[in-house]
Amino acid sequence: MPSYVDEGIVLRRVDYGESDRVLTVLTRHHGKVGVLARGVRKAGSRLAANTDLFTRSTLQLARGRGELEVLTEARRLGAVTSLGDARRSACASLCAELADHALEPGHPLDEGLYDLVAEALADCADPARDPRAAVVWFAQRMLDRLGYAPELHVCASCGSRLEERPARFSAAAGGLLCPVCAPRDVEGVDCPVTAIKVLRVAAAGDAGLYARLRLAPEVLAVLEQVLERELARHIDRRLRSLDVLRSLL
Ligand SMILES: [Zn+2]
Repeated sequence: MPSYVDEGIVLRRVDYGESDRVLTVLTRHHGKVGVLARGVRKAGSRLAANTDLFTRSTLQLARGRGELEVLTEARRLGAVTSLGDARRSACASLCAELADHALEPGHPLDEGLYDLVAEALADCADPARDPRAAVVWFAQRMLDRLGYAPELHVCASCGSRLEERPARFSAAAGGLLCPVCAPRDVEGVDCPVTAIKVLRVAAAGDAGLYARLRLAPEVLAVLEQVLERELARHIDRRLRSLDVLRSLL
């Protein structure tokens, strides 16, 4: 069987058969691939620790006859990252689930996308970072790359310039609404000025500035509602991890 080596992150894994697992792996050069990891659930499996969820590894993959590649070797990159608590773990799951649903299998990734996912998962594990803020950043950057960047500077409905004041976010309209248009979306999320500023920093892609922001829990809650509406509209499904995260707050 022809084989190749690539770097990858395990986004999802499902037990299969007696001792195998089917992994959904995001690879740097081959995009999202399905991988059969034989025998990884056996005690002492050499591959097990190197195919943990959200782990970055160098993988040797053989092209199988079916749709799955077959894992023949895995070597973890960097130290073992511990997610520490259930909240960090839920945030990492949300990033992985979003990446999994947003990306088609078998297509090479756009430049920088692999690193965006890898950095989001690292941020979720970083004790110096708030994992909820990392999720908001990642999801907004991801939606932007998918072509769903929201309108945040003029009204998404009538195009009038937005004043420096709270505004309603409408996923249906594709961004913030002016006070005149706001009543058109009763499902919209009312955003305070601080939340709007955070959305604008994320939209501008300024990672350094975003990392320095200290986001109050009530601002994060608003941003998560915005995110939830955007995902429901653009990814066309409810992400299970978002419910898990909610239940932990
Ligand atoms: Zn308007």
